[in-house]
Amino acid sequence: MANLTKDLFIGLSNNKFLNENAKRWGFRLGANKFVAGTNIDSVIETIRELNGNGIRCTLDNLGEFVADKAESTQAKEEVLRILDVIHSENLDCHLSVKLTQLGLDIDHAFCVANMREILRKAKGYDLFVNIDMEDYSHYPQTLDVLYTLLGEYDNVGTVVQSYLFRTEEDLEDLKKVRLRLVKGAYKESEDVAWQKKEEIDRSFILLAKKRLLGEAFTSIATHDHNIINELKRFIEENKISRDMFEFQMLYGFRTEMQFDLAKEGFNFCTYIPFGNDWFGYFMRRLAERPQNLNLVMKDVFYTKDNQLKKEPIITGAVAASLLLLWRKKKKTKSEKVVQ
Ligand SMILES: Cc1cc2nc3c(=O)[nH]c(=O)nc-3n(C[C@H](O)[C@H](O)[C@H](O)COP(=O)(O)OP(=O)(O)OC[C@H]3O[C@@H](n4cnc5c(N)ncnc54)[C@H](O)[C@@H]3O)c2cc1C
Repeated sequence: MANLTKDLFIGLSNNKFLNENAKRWGFRLGANKFVAGTNIDSVIETIRELNGNGIRCTLDNLGEFVADKAESTQAKEEVLRILDVIHSENLDCHLSVKLTQLGLDIDHAFCVANMREILRKAKGYDLFVNIDMEDYSHYPQTLDVLYTLLGEYDNVGTVVQSYLFRTEEDLEDLKKVRLRLVKGAYKESEDVAWQKKEEIDRSFILLAKKRLLGEAFTSIATHDHNIINELKRFIEENKISRDMFEFQMLYGFRTEMQFDLAKEGFNFCTYIPFGNDWFGYFMRRLAERPQNLNLVMKDVFYTKDNQLKKEPIITGAVAASLLLLWRKKKKTKSEKVVQ
C-alpha cells in the first residue's frame, strides 16, 4: 500500500500537464505548507526570522525538466536576481539549483554556461551554490557538469543519494567537495538503487559517518530522528568539529526539531523552496510521507477557520482529477507493456 501511494505521487510529480497547469493555479492542495512563497520578495521575511533563530537557509527557485532555451535563460536571470537580493538584504543564505531547470536536457554546453554565470556572480558575493541531485537518468550528466565547474570555481557542490549503489564509490572522487547527503526522492530501478527503507537508512548512516571522518563539509539532510540521534552520538564519540557539518531539513517539516537542533548549537540550514512551479516538488513530498495527505484534504475541503468550503465540488474535483489522471497514465503504461 505504501509503495502504491508512493508510485501514485511520483507518477503525478512527472505529469507534464499538471505541472504546467499548476503554475497558473497558484498554490493549491496545501502546497503553501511546504512552499514558502511565490517569489523571492515574498520569502525574505521567512529567511530573516529563521536567521534570527540561528538558522541558515538555502533557497530553491522551483522549476525542473525545462525543454525550452528561453525558459532556462529566464530561470538563470531569476537566479542571478536572487543572488543580488541575498547580498543586498544581507541574508544568511545560499542557493540550491536544479540543472534541468538550467538547460541540462537542452544542451550540455548551454547548461554549463548558465552555471558559470551563476557561480561567477555568487563568488563575487562569497556565496555557495549547491546543485540538487535529480533522478538517475540525469546523474552522470550532473556529475560531469560539476567536475567541469570544479575546475574553475570553489563555491559549488552537489548532493549524493544514499539509495544509489554507486554513491559509496563516487564519494572517493568527491572527497574534497562540499556535499549534501540525502536518502533520495525519485523512483529508481532495483538495478541501481536500494528499495527497502532499512537498506537506504543503513547506507545513509554509513555514508554520513564516512563523510564526517573526511575532510570536506557535509550537509546531513534528513528528517529522520533515529538517524540524527545516531549521528549525534557518533559526532560526540569521535570529537568531530561542528564546523565540518550541518543538519538540513525542508521548510515546513519538523519545524520544532529544526529550532531545537539550532538551539543545541548545531549548524542548521533550512531548505526553502519558492515559486510557481511547485507541483512536482509538492508531489514528491507527498510520496515520501503519505501523512502529508491530511494537510491536502484539509486544504481541499476546509477554509482556514475550519469551515467546509462553499465550492467543495470544484476543489474536490481537483483532487479527483489528480487521481483519475494518474490511473489513466498507469493504464496506458501497462497497455504499452502488454503490446
Ligand atoms: C534539505 C533537503 C534537501 C534535499 N535535496 C534532495 C536532492 O537534491 N535530491 C533528492 O533526491 N532528494 C533530496 N531530498 C529529499 C530526500 O532524498 C528524501 O526524499 C527526504 O528527505 C525524505 O527522507 P528523510 O531522510 O527525511 O526520511 P524519511 O525516510 O522520509 O523519514 C524517516 C522517519 O522520520 C520521521 N519523519 C519524517 N518526516 C517527518 C515529519 N514531517 N514529521 C514527523 N516525523 C517525520 C518518521 O518517523 C519517518 O519514518 C532533500 C531532503 C532534504 C531534507
